[in-house]
Amino acid sequence: MRALWLVIWMLAAAPVAAQDFSALARLDTETSVAEDVRRRLEVTLFLSQSVPYRVFTLDDPARVVLDFKEVDFRGFDAAIFDQSDRVEGVRAGPLRPGWSRMILDLADPMAVQSAGMQVSESDGTAIVELVMRPTSAEDFAATAGAPDDPDWVFALADQPPPEKPEDGPLVVVVDPGHGGIDSGAEYDGIEEADVMLALALELTAALGRLEGIQPALTRNTDVFVPLRERLTLARGAGADLFISLHADALAGEQATGATVYTLTDQAQSAASQRIAERHNSVDVLAGVDLRGQGDEVAMVLQDLARIETTAASDRFASALVQAMKDTNAPMNTRPRREAGLQVLTAADFPSVLIEAGFLSNVADRERLLTPQGRAPLVAAITLAVGRWAIEEEALAPLIRQ
Ligand SMILES: [Zn+2]
Repeated sequence: MRALWLVIWMLAAAPVAAQDFSALARLDTETSVAEDVRRRLEVTLFLSQSVPYRVFTLDDPARVVLDFKEVDFRGFDAAIFDQSDRVEGVRAGPLRPGWSRMILDLADPMAVQSAGMQVSESDGTAIVELVMRPTSAEDFAATAGAPDDPDWVFALADQPPPEKPEDGPLVVVVDPGHGGIDSGAEYDGIEEADVMLALALELTAALGRLEGIQPALTRNTDVFVPLRERLTLARGAGADLFISLHADALAGEQATGATVYTLTDQAQSAASQRIAERHNSVDVLAGVDLRGQGDEVAMVLQDLARIETTAASDRFASALVQAMKDTNAPMNTRPRREAGLQVLTAADFPSVLIEAGFLSNVADRERLLTPQGRAPLVAAITLAVGRWAIEEEALAPLIRQ
């Protein structure tokens, strides 16, 4: 039987009127395709059902973003875009609860010529057709940007930290790096975001067994969380310590073992700069550029608090290096480093970033992939938290004077 198509066209870059859909739509990767047709780029996505969506472009680098409410991109294969030379890269995944995002990196500036969704009346499946045409860099820059939509504003308003009882538990916020649309470092199909979530869940379970420690997570599922929102979440949980978990991947095989980073604003080594660039650009790559939302005025006021949190961060980093030695956790030859990492910029609680190892190294990779392999690092971090908590308690009367 010939399918009847109900055609819903929309203005480029305008969101389709919201409608309520419950089950997740799936992308058919067999039939979906991106092709260069003469000077245009044509993207055709087959979905198992219609969902609200929107299309817009972002500059620096040039990208086109498709947001869906909500598409299950599990098993997504970037190869469906291999036929197009105009698409240099593609990422897809959950952006935040209820929303998914697909990002196409464009080789050259292109404008949305048309975007539309056709819905089959017979089976409810949907086809999204997006046509992009070449444009100048100036015009691209002028029209790029996410449409204003209150639904899309991340909850950035910093809440005052909750009142905490003097003798309450120490709150340790564990932050599994990346997630959702942002898979982090990748090696052999292994994604940093997944491995860090597993490590974070094991770590919070271990921390929860320590007396006087209350663990919390910035994410407990495969979802994208912007860097600043991670800090906001930590603040809202009343963080006494913030531990961001990452893994690296390098071209070579050699680099191995865990490294702990604290914040610096000093000139950095090339390696630290590379780490900073990779981690700080995460929001930009995912199409959520919040760099303009810094609070410079607050920064000045925070400088005093920062002196103490910096010292406390350093004490934790040292405790962790010692604990890794004591537990025989595989450690990098230079385990203690500094970098200008955005996720470590909170002035009101100490924070460290742990690179748990290198996905590019075969021994690290095998270790990071199993609970048994991760156990020595979990033990080391847990031991360090326990020792650090005792040390901070001893120092507290001195610091408060
Ligand atoms: Zn990372």
